[in-house]
This record gives sequence, C-alpha cells and structure tokens, in this order.
Amino acid sequence: MTQIISGKEISEEIRAELKEQVATLKAGTGVVPGLAVVLVGADPASEMYVGMKNKAAKELGIHSRQISLPAETPEDELLGVIDGLNADPAIHGILVQLPLPGHIDEAKVIEAIDPMKDVDGFHPVSVGRLQTGSGECFAPCTPAGVIEMLVRSGHDPAGKHAVVVGRSNIVGKPMAALLMRKGRGGDATVTVAHSRTADLGAVTRSADILIVAMGRPEMITGDMVSEGTVVIDVGTNRVDDPTRERGYRVCGDVLFDEVKDKAAAISPVPGGVGPMTITMLLANTVRSAEIASDRAG
Ligand code: NDP
Repeated sequence: MTQIISGKEISEEIRAELKEQVATLKAGTGVVPGLAVVLVGADPASEMYVGMKNKAAKELGIHSRQISLPAETPEDELLGVIDGLNADPAIHGILVQLPLPGHIDEAKVIEAIDPMKDVDGFHPVSVGRLQTGSGECFAPCTPAGVIEMLVRSGHDPAGKHAVVVGRSNIVGKPMAALLMRKGRGGDATVTVAHSRTADLGAVTRSADILIVAMGRPEMITGDMVSEGTVVIDVGTNRVDDPTRERGYRVCGDVLFDEVKDKAAAISPVPGGVGPMTITMLLANTVRSAEIASDRAG
C-alpha cells in the first residue's frame, strides 16, 4: 500500500521537539528565542501568513515580534528597522515577508539582514555557505522541510537518484543543494529539470525520489512516474472548482490520484509540504538562539 507522507504529522512531531528545546534553552541559559517578522503593506495573504507564523512561534514559547509598516514606507526606513533588529540581542531570527511593495529593492533588503539572523536562508551569504558547506547557515525553509519529510518517513536520500523539477531560488535550487550536500538528508545523486528540459517524462521516470516544485497544477501524471518512486509535491495551486462552495480547490503539481497508485510513498496537497515551511522557520530560529547563546557562553 502506498505510504502517505504527512507533512502535518511530521510538522507536529518537530514542533514538539522544538518546544522541549526552547524550554531547555530557557532553563539552562535564560535565553528565549526571538523571531521578528516584518510586514510592509496590508496584502491579505501576507497578513495571513504572518499571523500564522506569530501564532506558531508563541505556541512553542518563542518570543515573536511583528513589525507592521505602511505600504508607502521608504526603503531607507525599512533598512533602518532591519539594522535595529540586527543589533537587538533579543532577536535571533528576522523574516521580511515577501513580496515587498514595488518601490523597495528586495535584494537590498535581504542583504541588509545579518546572515546569522537570516532564518529564511535567502541572504547571498546563506546561499553561498549552503553551496560550499562552510560556516553556519540557515537553509531555506521549504526545501529544508522536504528533507525532514524524506528522512523522518524512512526515505533517506543518500545514494538515491533524486530528480527536482523546478529551479527557483526559493525551492528548486536550494532543494538540489541540500540533496547533494554531504551528511544527513543529503548524499543523493541529483538531477534538476525545468521548463527547457527536453522529455521531462523520461527524466522524472528515472527518479528514485521525485520532488516537484513547478507551480503547474497536476502536471505530473501517472505515466511520468516509475513504480516505487517516492514523490514529494511542493506545488500549491488554486484551481477553479464550481462544485465547491468557495469556488476553488487547492492542488499540487502532481496528479495525486494517478501517481499514488505507482508511488511507494507520496505527500498530499494540502497537508504535505505546506505545514513544514513554518515549522522549519521556527527550527531555524531556535538554532540561531542556541548558536547565539553558545557564543555568549
Ligand atoms: P517558480 O515559478 O519560481 O518556479 C517554477 C519552476 O518550475 C521554474 O524553474 C520553471 O522552469 C519550472 N517549470 C515551470 N513549468 C514547467 C514545465 N512545464 N516543465 C518543467 N519545468 C517547469 O515557482 P516556486 O519555485 O516559487 O514555487 C513552485 C511551486 O511550489 C508553486 O506551486 C508554489 O506555490 C509552491 N510553493 C510552496 C511552498 C510551500 O510552503 N508548500 C513554498 C514555496 C513554493 P524555468 O526556470 O525554466 O522557468
């Protein structure tokens, strides 16, 4: 029977572990991990994500600070806020909710974050350290969550052929870097496919582990997957569905009903990778606080 890899369950398991780590850190050193979430403007989806992050942080005993700035905030003012958070010893993780309003240069803002507080893992120093394997860095949360799902469900990528479909900076590229790095959750042989890949099906059929992050609803069909493949679907798409009261449904990039019959294991959408992203943000924040406390001690 096909194993369903539940990101929801694995996420709960990791959050329980983090709660203990937070309590141990606090009891031993007095340090409470602190996460600052900066929101510029009032985009409803961003407000919802920020609210979820704050709530999840508080549940684990992480101190969470939300900084909401008006949409017209000048870039310099935002950079000043980040400087203040970089210097604040109570804050171990800084997240700037993207996208930012058009007049603000996102790259400049990301580069202003202290790499040791870059719990989103998007700073070029974090990206470089992930690639070179040198120094402390935080891995981007979504691909880090996929690695946890694989390892904790019994599908260690070591020695396997992992195919990643998608090469974005936030999912595909760091996913490939994590899979190929040495050590826990890595040591895979990695192929990255994208929109210019010739014969995508031939590539996806060659996978032992298939990770899909295309943003194309249900594009990976049963004939594109070999028997016994482990499939992780990162895609989160809204498609019209007049049979639902709300008029749409959420689906992945994988045609679940077809692919599940061939896969050895598969993650669903929703309830798959989605819940892992916030969990890994919290894990990065706790680790950042542990590193800061080790340095201070
Ligand atoms: P992007 O649009 O930035 O990247 C999509 C990638 O898929 C690109 O590399 C693109 O190739 C490739 N691609 C698109 N169409 C095809 C095709 N027909 N054949 C092969 N490759 C194709 O998306 P993201 O990486 O940001 O996100 C991917 C998906 O993951 C989305 O559904 C998003 O909502 C979801 N997501 C989910 C998260 C979660 O927490 N669960 C977090 C982040 C993302 P090319 O580079 O050539 O254009």
